[in-house]
Parts: sequence; structure tokens; C-alpha cells
Amino acid sequence: MVDGPMPVVHLFEEAKALDKFVLGGKGYGLVQMAAIGLPVPPGIVITTAACKEYYKTGVVPRGLFEEVKAKVARLEKETGKKLGGESPLLVSVRSGAPFSMPGMMDTILNLGLNDQVVKRLAQLTGDERFAFDAYRRLLQMYGKTALGIDSQEFEAILDTRKKQSGVELDSKLSAEDLRQLVDEFKDVIRARGEEFPQDPWKQLETAVVSVFRSWENPRAREYRRYYKIADDIGTAVNIQVMVFGNLGEDSGSGVGFTRNPSTGEKSLFGEFLSNAQGEDVVAGTRTPIGIETVDLHLRDQLQQVAKTLERHFRDMQDFEFTVERGRLYLLQTRNGKRTAQAAVKIAVDMVQEGLIRKEEAVARLDPDDAERLLHRTIDPRVKVKPIAKGLNASPGATWGKVVLDTDEAASLGGKGEKIILVRPETTPEDIKGVIASQGVLTARGGMTSHAAVVARGMGKPAVVGCGGLKLHPTEGYFETETGAKVKAGDVITLDGTSGTVMLGEVPMVEPQLTTEFRTLLGWADEIRRLGVYANADTPEAAARARDFGAEGIGLCRTERMFNAPDRLKIMQDMISADSIEAKSAALRKLIPFQLNDFRGIFKEMRGKPVIVRLLDLPLHEFLPEEPRLLEEIATMKKDGREGPELQRRERLLVKVRQLSEHNPMLGHRGCRLAVTFPEMYDVQVEAIIRAAIEVRRESGDTAEVFIMLPLVSEVEEVVFLRKVVDAAAERTMKDMGERIEYKVGTMIETPRAALTAGEIAKQAEFFSFGTNDLTQATFAFSRDDVEAKFMAKYLEEKILPVSPFEVLDATGVGRLIEIAVNDGRKARPGLEVGICGEHGGEPRSIEFFNKVGLDYVSCSGFRIPVARLAAAQATIASRKSSSTV
Ligand code: PEP
Ligand code: MG
Repeated sequence: MVDGPMPVVHLFEEAKALDKFVLGGKGYGLVQMAAIGLPVPPGIVITTAACKEYYKTGVVPRGLFEEVKAKVARLEKETGKKLGGESPLLVSVRSGAPFSMPGMMDTILNLGLNDQVVKRLAQLTGDERFAFDAYRRLLQMYGKTALGIDSQEFEAILDTRKKQSGVELDSKLSAEDLRQLVDEFKDVIRARGEEFPQDPWKQLETAVVSVFRSWENPRAREYRRYYKIADDIGTAVNIQVMVFGNLGEDSGSGVGFTRNPSTGEKSLFGEFLSNAQGEDVVAGTRTPIGIETVDLHLRDQLQQVAKTLERHFRDMQDFEFTVERGRLYLLQTRNGKRTAQAAVKIAVDMVQEGLIRKEEAVARLDPDDAERLLHRTIDPRVKVKPIAKGLNASPGATWGKVVLDTDEAASLGGKGEKIILVRPETTPEDIKGVIASQGVLTARGGMTSHAAVVARGMGKPAVVGCGGLKLHPTEGYFETETGAKVKAGDVITLDGTSGTVMLGEVPMVEPQLTTEFRTLLGWADEIRRLGVYANADTPEAAARARDFGAEGIGLCRTERMFNAPDRLKIMQDMISADSIEAKSAALRKLIPFQLNDFRGIFKEMRGKPVIVRLLDLPLHEFLPEEPRLLEEIATMKKDGREGPELQRRERLLVKVRQLSEHNPMLGHRGCRLAVTFPEMYDVQVEAIIRAAIEVRRESGDTAEVFIMLPLVSEVEEVVFLRKVVDAAAERTMKDMGERIEYKVGTMIETPRAALTAGEIAKQAEFFSFGTNDLTQATFAFSRDDVEAKFMAKYLEEKILPVSPFEVLDATGVGRLIEIAVNDGRKARPGLEVGICGEHGGEPRSIEFFNKVGLDYVSCSGFRIPVARLAAAQATIASRKSSSTV
């Protein structure tokens, strides 16, 4: 027994009160299913505490195996069988972490067989073939997990034997073939200097330790890193009485989903493989049949099971079952992984069926999944010519270069190349390749195969079980049924929604929100306290933002309106002009563009707030780079193209050199530029006010106008620029003979602005946190360089848990925000405060903003549904935490 009072080994029936952190997900599911009367083969769970202890001390917890022995004795009593005995008990030993990590850790089946027991099993079942098949599987799994032998070594021997016997399927091998395989497999183990242990207890002990050890295998570690699963929670070990799906044609194994995991439709979904053990189904090596085609009696039983599971777990379940000579057993259940579309449909349907409450539905959907719903699809107007068709395992369309090797995929994808991983089938070994790719294409496997499950979980398009796909990895190409030959490096398009593959890059369209998703987001809106605004700079972006549910525009970056080539040139002229007059003249040329844009945006956002930020020009972004300019000038001179264009470039070159700054992001930008050239803001304000009045004249209503000053660090900047803004607004209103309400506020994006927010608030009618610059300035991390330069190392060394440009740093930046909100509201009660940096659409940051009491978050278009959901979840979480205080 380990030190301390708690036992770490429990029979299923003893563990009803324990949670999945103790029992692991698999153990928890088994214990619960047994408790509600579903047919579960008896078993025991070694809790995660034992695994944690193993990693803490480096050795198996003292007394663990005595405890296991005592409980196995209870299983023996219950079943009337004995490990290694006359009537032999065989068990499975499976891992089971608190969070699902499909296929990442070890499993050993048929444990308890040895040279003698296999014969007794053959006699008892009357099926020698079955007994030796079970034994060879045990040797194979034991060799792989306990001794680390590459499973390919066993597979190669198996393939040779099949060839020699002239059969294609494992299930067609004769008892004699299997007996020989057993000998050959033992030789493989012997070649490692080991003998396969004949003592079942020794097998059991080794298997338990192998499961503990598999917690730290590279693919499990990689999986945890990707899914942000903590390293210290450990795995449980489940030891369960074996039932056999490979005892003939009235036996089999299957995987079921209580609802369709791809569409969310309420109908039993799954696959079944007769005369097979469970591993055969998930491995994807033989293609199973759909559950709808199994015999009626079994289908009825499975329907009943699905209903019972959903009523108990109140969520869609993914369960594994085995039929042994006509008798159904359940071997696992867990909340089923599903596509984002399915997640939404299931949550909404379950509310309508009275299974869960609206709040639960909203709390259930991962906000990042909400974004996945916005996946691209193939443009329906384009006539595509598929070169291959497979199962539509994970929806969405994508394209990339073909890569046939997992390591190469990981390396190319890691460098930012868009790639499609093409494999015969995927195994957990391929996980790094899947992570690095845009999408996955496999020749084999079903909807529940590894590739399908993993890609769905990651929201990556996948086409699997693409029959007729012939891979030639060494020669670097694959062929399809239609006769297409595709080389590694060629670009293909995958449509995971229809299960098709096309050559080249096919045009795609942006997605639409489904009715169910709108319903769910509507519930989120009823719950959330934070407003959700959009960062949008064009009328089109404003329209999309409204469609996604934005309640206003939190940031209209006016400099972004000048990115189009025709505008950029005028912008450059303005920047490079020498006199104030020439600058103003160039600026005036820009105004019609801007006026038009403002009109369009105000029209879209009638009745809603629009926060227009006056120019914040990072000059370096708008000027060409010196080397390119030099080259162009040289070429023009060489070609004799003297004239105004050459002169323009020469002027620009002088300006580029003059304006070059050592730290442009800390340089002459934001309101500082306006202090030296106030005309810039004067004409902008004129355009804003004019547009707002014009839109109101046309349609009787317009947007609420907010004018925002960027990069303020001293209240006197605000005092100075407010005069410019108010004068321009007054002049325009007088000109137009009409008045309009507007507010003037500031961004808080420098630490000094945050620390002097009390003073600034006396001059500003609203605040908006620019957390991009605020993060840059607080850490003194260049926002343009840090992530490419050293952030990866910082994360790898755990110096920072996550990039502060991705998730708001609550400790430093967050403290400044809290100070600014408090001081600002003290000076101006009711001061409206929001955030418009990129953190505005990031769920973990949103939780923080909710806590601090901001009025709204603002983010880019596709993140709006994410923000609506995350804001609702933050409200739910804060209610929960206040009710537990
Ligand atoms: C910010 O700094 O967070 C911000 C929104 O402004 P920009 O990204 O345009 O500098
Ligand atoms: Mg900024």
C-alpha cells in the first residue's frame, strides 16, 4: 500500500463516488456505466495517484501489486476464473488519463495467456484459431509496449505469413498459421534478449508499469502540449476481464456515437467489424460496416444503450462495445469528440429536448470551436473535378503541397509551409505531421479511424478511407483511382465536407452562420455582460461584423484605409512632402476616399457606436524599403526613364532616409505625429463629422460618433489635440448648418497613460485599451519582432507560459489596466472603457476583461462569435465563483 490512508486500487463497484481526475476518463466511464446497470465486464482501476507517485519517486508505489492482487482475486471469485488457472481469466490492461488522449498511451489485451493457457483456452472455446490469434496479439502488444519493439517488425512477419498462406485478411489465417506466428513473435522478443514471461502475474506487473511509462512517451507528451493538458495529472490503469469480439461471426467489435459526430444529427452513428477485437476498428486497417447495417436486435440494443448513456451523462457519448457470441458488452464511454458544427447542433438540440439548460449549452462550446464553424468551403460556383473521393471525415476545405512523410510534414509545416499530409492511414506516431499540416488525406480507415478522430478534434479538414489511393512514398508520388498521378510537392485541395480531393488550389468561399449557431449565440447574448464590438476599417468589414453580431465598431483604424495601391501613393506623397502646404494638399486628396469610407461605415452601423481612431501612422509601414527604392531608381536611370516618376522616387528616397528611426514603433507615430502636423487631424475630423451628418440627412439616422486619439502618454497631448478636434468639428457643423453629437476619447496603450488615467479621464470621454502597444511597452518587447525571434524559446523553457501578444498578461499589463479603469472612473464616474487590441477576441483574456469590469471588447470579424461566447462563459464563471464565495 502507498503511504497514506487512501487505497489506490478499486473495483468498479467501489468507485462510484470518485471523479475522472482520480479514475481517469476511461475508468470513470466504466464505473458509471456499471453503476447504471449497463453490461460492463468487471474490472478494477488503479487511480492516477499511483502514476503520480511513480513519477514522484521513480519506482512503483510500495504495496501496489499486493493491492492489485487482492482485487484481482475478487474478479476471479466473481467470474469463477483464475489468472493462469484451469478456467483461465484473461484481462485487458489499458491506460486512461483524466482527459481523452486517444491512442497516445499503451494498451495490452489478452493478458494471462501463456504456452499452457493458450491450449486450455482453445479447448474451452473449441476454437484453436481464436486462442492462438489472441496469443499472438498479446505477444505483439507486449513486445511493443513493454519492450519498445517497433510494431512494424511484427506486422512485416504477419504480412509474410499472409502471403505464404495466400490470404488477404488476418481473420483468414489458419490455426496453424497463427501457431507459427506465435513462435516467430516469441523469436522477435527473444532477439531483444528477453523471454516472454509465462507467469501471468509478471505479465500484469510489467503491463501496469508500461502504462505508467507510456504517460511520458514522446507522442503523449506532444499531444498534451498541443491540447494544453497538464503534465502532472498522470494516467489511471484499467484492468478488466476480457470479452472477445473475435470468437466467430456472431461476435464483433464496434464504436458508436449517440449522435452523428460530424453533423450533430440525432441518430445513432458508428461502425462495426465482425469477428474482430476493438483495436481492429480504431486502427483503421480493415474498413468496418456502418452501424445502421448491423442486425436489428443488436441495433435495438445499441439504441437503448445510447439513450441510457445520454440521459446519464447529459452529453453526446462515444462508446466502444464488443459482442461476444451474441452478447453485448460496453467497454468504454466518453463525451464524444465532434465537429464544431455538430457541437453547436447537439448543444442546441439538447436544450430543446430538455436534457440541458441554455447556460450549459453556452458553457459547453469551446469558443475556439466557434471560430472553426467559420471554416472555408469550396466555392459552389466553381465546377470541380475530383481526382479522388473518400470519407468526409472532418469538414472544411483547404489546400497545400503534398507531403508523404510525417517527419517531413512536421519540418515543412513547422517552417510555415502549407502542406497536406497524405498517408496510407495515420497512427498516433503521425500526430506531429497532422499538427503541422493544413489537412489530412488517407487511403484507409473509417470515420472513427485515428486520422478522422484527430483531424476532427483539431478542426482540420480530412478525407479518409480514400479507396484506390496508391501511395509510393519512396518514389515520392501517389496515384488515384481516376488515374491521376500526384507528386510530393504538388498542390492539392481537400474538401473535408464532401470527401473529395482536387488538383491545384480550388477557389473557396467564406462560411455562413447556421441557424443553430445563431440560436446559441443568441443565448450567449442574453447571458453576457460585456459588449462585443468589431475592429473594422471598411464598409464591407462593418457589414460582416454586424452579421457576426457586433454591437458597434470599437476600432476603425483610419490609416488602414490607405493600404490600397491608389491611396498608398497619395499617402506617400503626403509623408514625403516638404512644406506644410504640400502636405496639406496631398492630405486633401485623401479626404474624398476617407469621406466615402466613413459614409459607408456609418450607414452600416446606424444607431450603433463607431469609434474612429485618428491617424496612427507607423511611418515605416507606409514607405518603401530603402534597398528596393535604390534598385528601382537604378533600373529607371539605366533604362533612361527620367521624368516625374523617377523624381518622385528620388524624393521618397531622401524622405525614407530622413524619416528612418531606430525604433519606429516607439517613434514619431500616433498623436505625436498630429502634434507636429495638426492639419492631419483637422481634415480627418472634418470628414468624420461631414459623413455622419450626410448619412443622417439621407436616412434620418447615423452611427454614434466617437473620435479617438492614439498613443497618448501625457494628458497635455489630449488637451492640445482636443482643441484641434473640437475646432474642426465646430467649423464643419457650422459649415453644414447642422449639429451632431460626438465624443472624444483616448486609447490607453502606454504604461504612462495607464498610470495617469485619472488626469486623462478629466479630458477624455471614453477609454479604449490598445493592448498590442501596451504589451509591447510594458514588456519592452518589440511587437514586430519578438514572436519570430525568441518567443518560441521562452515558451519551450517555460519562461513565459504563453505569448503575451496572444493571451493578455494579467500580472503586468493587466495590473496597468486595473489601475487605469479604477482611476479613470474615479475621475469621471460612468467612464466607458473597452479594449480594442488583438486580445479582445481571445477567450482567456476576455475572462480577465470581464473581471476588471470593462464595458466591451472589440475584435476582428471572425472572432466576434468567439467573443460573444467567451463573454457569456465569463459571466457564467463569475456567477459560479461568486456563489461559491
Ligand atoms: C493596440 O496597440 O492595441 C491597438 C489596437 O492599436 P494598433 O494595433 O493599431 O497599434
Ligand atoms: Mg496601438
